[in-house]
Amino acid sequence: MSHKRFLGWEPTTTYTYDDAGRLVESTPEAEWDESQRDAMLALQRYRETEQCPKCGGPKWICQSPEAESNYVAGDPIRCHITTTILRAQKDYSEGVHSPHEQALLWPIKVRDAVPLQ
Ligand SMILES: [Zn+2]
Repeated sequence: MSHKRFLGWEPTTTYTYDDAGRLVESTPEAEWDESQRDAMLALQRYRETEQCPKCGGPKWICQSPEAESNYVAGDPIRCHITTTILRAQKDYSEGVHSPHEQALLWPIKVRDAVPLQ
């Protein structure tokens, strides 16, 4: 399998050698310039102070008392991966007891594909 990078950017490293050809310094290029760092810090600040931890929207909209009757819930959309995991966990917990079940990871794979006609 190839390890070629398909996306993203990789910093280049500058190598400095002495007169004898020995490596004396390697300096990787900074991955973030100042404006990128400022943008990411601003995003982090927004998430920590302005973003609702429940719905992910801006608190000033979803938590505003004036917005109390502005929203209507739609029909639920089922996540079949979560459903599969919950079903497997229930079956597992009803079987042989395993300590610390919350520490288990549940890998999910797609069933054998059904060919389209
Ligand atoms: Zn919210």
